Amino acid sequence: MKKILVSECLHGGRIVRYDGKEKVETNPIFVGWKEEGRLITVCPEVFGGLPTPRVDSQRLGDKVVSRDGRDVTGEYTTGALEALRLAKEHDIAFAIMKEKSPSCGVKLIYDGTFSGNKVPGMGITTQLLREAGFKVFSEEELEEAKAYLESLE
Ligand code: SF4
Repeated sequence: MKKILVSECLHGGRIVRYDGKEKVETNPIFVGWKEEGRLITVCPEVFGGLPTPRVDSQRLGDKVVSRDGRDVTGEYTTGALEALRLAKEHDIAFAIMKEKSPSCGVKLIYDGTFSGNKVPGMGITTQLLREAGFKVFSEEELEEAKAYLESLE
């Protein structure tokens, strides 16, 4: 059975989001994969050593900066590399990542000004996974991901 890498905040079971809240995905497609035991969870920001809850951060070009002005690119990169390592270890079919996150965003991210503006772009982990050749969908693209999985199996 092919495995799927997922953002841990979508999977649930442990609180990992910066705001200490849950965003568990309840779409039946996702729940079905969970019940089958396909999902490999990753939270790159926790992997990078950041606490929960934590100050929110946004991408600014190649860097990631926190709302209080710290450069957290190192922590985000460490976490992204661990997610990539797990993707390779489990030979995943693809990843489902949480939209708009500076780590996991797939099509949209915040613009680095902390004013609520979103721009086309992806998180650091999504970028690394794609550069390594992995396909990445967001939680808003589960139908497409399901069709892709069926084409593989
Ligand atoms: S880094 Fe990714 S998995 Fe972790 S809380 Fe943020 S969106 Fe969810």
